[in-house]
Amino acid sequence: MVMGDLVREVDVAIVGGGPGGYSAAFRCAELGLETAVVDAGRRLGGACLWEGCIPSKALLHVGAVLGEAERAKEFGVDFGEPRIALDTLRKWKAERVVGRLARGLAAVAKSKGVEVIGGRGVFEDSRTLRVEGDEPQKLRFTSAVVATGSAPSPLPGLGLAPDRVMDSTAALELPDVPERLLVVGGGYIGLELGQVYAALGSKVMLVEMTDGLLPGVDRDLVQPLARQCEKLFVKIRLDTTVTSLRETGSGIEARFGGDTVAFDRVLVAVGRRAVSADLGLETTRVRPDARGVIAVDERCRTADPRIWAVGDVTGEPMLAHRAMRQGKVAAEAIAGRPAAFDNVAVPAVVFTDPEVAWCGLTESEATRAGRPVRLAKFPWAASGRAATLGRSDGLTKLIVDPDTGRVLGVGIVGPGAGELIAEGAVAVETALTVEDLAVTIHAHPTLSETLMEAAETLLRPA
Ligand code: FAD
Ligand code: NAD
Repeated sequence: MVMGDLVREVDVAIVGGGPGGYSAAFRCAELGLETAVVDAGRRLGGACLWEGCIPSKALLHVGAVLGEAERAKEFGVDFGEPRIALDTLRKWKAERVVGRLARGLAAVAKSKGVEVIGGRGVFEDSRTLRVEGDEPQKLRFTSAVVATGSAPSPLPGLGLAPDRVMDSTAALELPDVPERLLVVGGGYIGLELGQVYAALGSKVMLVEMTDGLLPGVDRDLVQPLARQCEKLFVKIRLDTTVTSLRETGSGIEARFGGDTVAFDRVLVAVGRRAVSADLGLETTRVRPDARGVIAVDERCRTADPRIWAVGDVTGEPMLAHRAMRQGKVAAEAIAGRPAAFDNVAVPAVVFTDPEVAWCGLTESEATRAGRPVRLAKFPWAASGRAATLGRSDGLTKLIVDPDTGRVLGVGIVGPGAGELIAEGAVAVETALTVEDLAVTIHAHPTLSETLMEAAETLLRPA
């Protein structure tokens, strides 16, 4: 018998070992189901650990340290010009940050009895998954979970040129610090990685197709970030698309808005697309839509009763914590437990300087839907803690139901907004009212007081 003929019986076969896949696998194993994860890289962590959340946040931390050191001059502390040893930085990111977490995930899988199989998973029918690659075999499953994630979208019509044109994965490898960097796309990745490279010393120009950074996010939350980016970047061009990229001997020429500008590297960050092609889904009842997105119900079940899907492959918002929650819901549902992805607050955090975070209903969504809301805004200029940090440029706002006082959404911009939004998520998820927030004692002086202070503004008589 050759290896590829080997047929194994498992309760649950999971395709993809990212946050969605490993969360589903760990919970399935905890619930007593024999579970195997098939991952093309034979490792757990997916885009999040290897080429996404974790390495980008490690580099953003480095950028934040550099930014703080620069700001310290304001109160009389000068560390001098920073010297950056790129090799040490790359090694720290790869070994001390990503490597350490990867070893942790592998150990958890082992302790829970989750098998990780290296190879590409391809469905042969609604009961069988073929594994292609180093460890060829077939898995006969009772249930399967598709957790194949997403991949960077290329620039339409331009394709991805080698070397000098980077996607986020290549940019996170930090091949060098280019003197002139063009960032195409003013969304999460363009802003986070644009700020990383600017902090390391690149002259960054950013080109965004729409009329503002972070399209869709409330403008008052974006404004402080836009102001900071105007300082950090040499130029931001809105309402602009790149029409051609041409490699020259010494660099790359980009055409946009009637101009031709030379750069040393280009980072393309124009969104991500679901990975569902070449998965053999046509042999099942799962039919991804034109964008490759797999539709699921609130239990994360696809149109095929044996097949579930979680994470980026199920569409927006493509965020790791959503994938993890979906993974746990799918596992519980597979085990026959009552579970549903019925969360009302999926927090979103852009880890820039300043951070922008929101959850639940946004002001723009309420306006678009014609839904009446009350807004409470607390500018950080009035926050004692913000003053001690030298950061009064933040804002905390609440989107509140006018009849019940229930907190429907929270938006925060400022350093630490990504941590502060957790209180907003609890408030929205558990239907707290502004009064609940206002009467809860928040430690002084902290930035969390801004949530309480914002709530108090709605309790005062007009
Ligand atoms: P993925 O993490 O994409 O994992 C999918 C896995 O499936 C991969 O390991 C892949 O190799 C494997 N696979 C695919 N096809 C097959 C196949 N046929 N057979 C076997 N294996 C297969 N989100 C946040 O919440 N916070 C952040 O700060 C954040 N930062 C990010 C920064 C960057 C630069 C990027 C690119 C993304 C970031 N994200 C962030 C998004 C986050 O990474 C994704 O939402 C998350 O990884 C999705 O998890 P997933 O399990 O759906 O898929
Ligand atoms: P994005 O959707 O956040 O932003 C893409 C930006 O590119 C948009 O502003 C869009 O208008 C612009 N754009 C699209 N086509 C363009 C073109 N031809 N020319 C110029 N601009 C163009 O996508 P992203 O930044 O690539 O990130 C992908 C996804 O990864 C995010 O949506 C998010 O789900 C996830 N992510 C999350 C985090 C986080 O949670 N902190 C960080 C990074 C990535």
